[in-house]
Amino acid sequence: MRNPGGYAIWTYPDGKNVEQDSFTCAHCNQVVFIKPQADLGGFCIKCMKNVCGPCADLGVCHPFEKKVEAMEKGKTWEQIFKEVKNG
Ligand SMILES: [Zn+2]
Ligand SMILES: [Zn+2]
Repeated sequence: MRNPGGYAIWTYPDGKNVEQDSFTCAHCNQVVFIKPQADLGGFCIKCMKNVCGPCADLGVCHPFEKKVEAMEKGKTWEQIFKEVKNG
């Protein structure tokens, strides 16, 4: 799902539509919903994209595409995150 700065509309079983601002983390591809007073994550100045809280905390630029590449080489998410953390 690639929709940075997009708008997500969830339909609940009772038929109510709940609209929420959202963005997709450029580093892990996670959709982050922007809630008032919540952790909004961060902004990566290297790739100029919104990133989620955990990725912002890492303080490094590691775009999702690079993680996909590493996964194609047989690495697990855990290994990839460990490598990102260690620089
Ligand atoms: Zn992330
Ligand atoms: Zn980045």
